[in-house]
Amino acid sequence: MTMDGDLGDGGRDGDGDRDARGPWRRTATSSRTRSRTRARIRTRTRRAAVATAVALAAAGGAACQGPAVPAPGPAASKPAPTVSGSRPAVSVPRQVVTVRYEDPAPADRDDAGFLRGQQTAEAVAADLAGFLDWGDRAPVPLVVRSCAGEGPSYDPEARRIEICYDEITETRQLFREAARRQAEDGDLRSIQLETLFHESAHALIDVLGLGLAGNEEDLADQFAALMLLRNGASGERQLRITAEAWRMSAELYVADEEATGDEEATEGEEATGDDHAPDLARAVNQLCYLYGAAPGRHRDVLGTAGLPTVRAAGCAQEWNTARTRWTQALRAAGALRGPTDGPGTGG
Ligand SMILES: [Zn+2]
Repeated sequence: MTMDGDLGDGGRDGDGDRDARGPWRRTATSSRTRSRTRARIRTRTRRAAVATAVALAAAGGAACQGPAVPAPGPAASKPAPTVSGSRPAVSVPRQVVTVRYEDPAPADRDDAGFLRGQQTAEAVAADLAGFLDWGDRAPVPLVVRSCAGEGPSYDPEARRIEICYDEITETRQLFREAARRQAEDGDLRSIQLETLFHESAHALIDVLGLGLAGNEEDLADQFAALMLLRNGASGERQLRITAEAWRMSAELYVADEEATGDEEATEGEEATGDDHAPDLARAVNQLCYLYGAAPGRHRDVLGTAGLPTVRAAGCAQEWNTARTRWTQALRAAGALRGPTDGPGTGG
């Protein structure tokens, strides 16, 4: 199992590298520099950078579509109670993660309001609890906080997931600069969901000691795809949006590099020292999983601007392999709820 290259050991004072997942970030210090510090599992480094760096925008938000998942509120952090009553339920989902919101930095207040309002973290907590059999294991804290641009992360020492208010602003900026449009609530929600599942994957690999073969970042992306696709059409749409965001991120990265003549920027894409696939590769991977899961439904992603046809031919197999790898590992760890998770999950 690879844990993000090296997990580093020390110096974890909040400055470690992270999953600059919304990242559209490669600001001052750049992920390239940060990636050498590795105190944490950096989950994402979407480093498409906007030359103008992280601008601060804000926006409130309201509810949007998305998977119909209960929004539990404060109680979401607790193990689900036995069905209101006397008898112990046969299989009561235990919380895999417990959600907590920290007070936001003043600049992040609107983003914090948006994230709380969306209840995305709670939705992910509910999905994980429904998918996994957590038994008596301690839930993993999922803290939503101001990260000052450091990006979401999973900290294996503290065993906690950190998700960032400021990513909302960064994502809005990405859409404005790359797509020339405002990010809709559904876009923001989709990307947050994928980030949350991606970070949760790191936590699962760590806490359950999953012996998964392969690059952990790719595995985490695959887990995110798995969890989104479980939710049917809404999840498919969300996965597609995240692929689009990765592509935008890659495009901005190139644009930034052309604008600044910063060859290191290009090199940085390859030399960040982290284990993330380049943004464009991540976009294509996600489209491959989406397409592979249901080729008949997603033919429109085929093409040079989406999923290359040559790659597409193997996507059903790729997806099946990825999904099976996860479900088998979770089952072997005694952490998978239910006998199977749909067709093709293996064993
Ligand atoms: Zn990661």
